[in-house]
Amino acid sequence: MAESEFSSAVYNRFLAEKKLMGSKCKRCGAIHLPLRPICPKCYGTEMELVKMKGKGKLAAYTVISVGPPMMCEEGFDRDHPYCSGIVELEEGVRIPGRIMGVNVTKPDQIKIGTPVTAEYQERVHGEEKRTFLAFRAL
Ligand SMILES: [Zn+2]
Repeated sequence: MAESEFSSAVYNRFLAEKKLMGSKCKRCGAIHLPLRPICPKCYGTEMELVKMKGKGKLAAYTVISVGPPMMCEEGFDRDHPYCSGIVELEEGVRIPGRIMGVNVTKPDQIKIGTPVTAEYQERVHGEEKRTFLAFRAL
């Protein structure tokens, strides 16, 4: 089976090149991130790749002090919490990611609507190097 042009593997490959790509439905114009081969809005299957500007604003966030093992490995714990959020991109799509550059010790001072820009983080887990999408508050 041929790999779809609109798979998460392709999306991750773009991330590794520091490109944030979405799939845009040619029928209804909806943009999806990560890439989707089928539009969940109109079930259209004609997609095209579009490059996101990587700019947006913070739509929701949570400060996590007890994270998954992957985050603990990186040194996050009760005393070193991290912020995870949902960013609404300028293109109108919402995407989750780690939020950098905010004061996690004062979560109540983190503001919804804070402008953020995409940041690409390379992390090594075992043999595997992957690039993760994060956002930095401006
Ligand atoms: Zn559509």
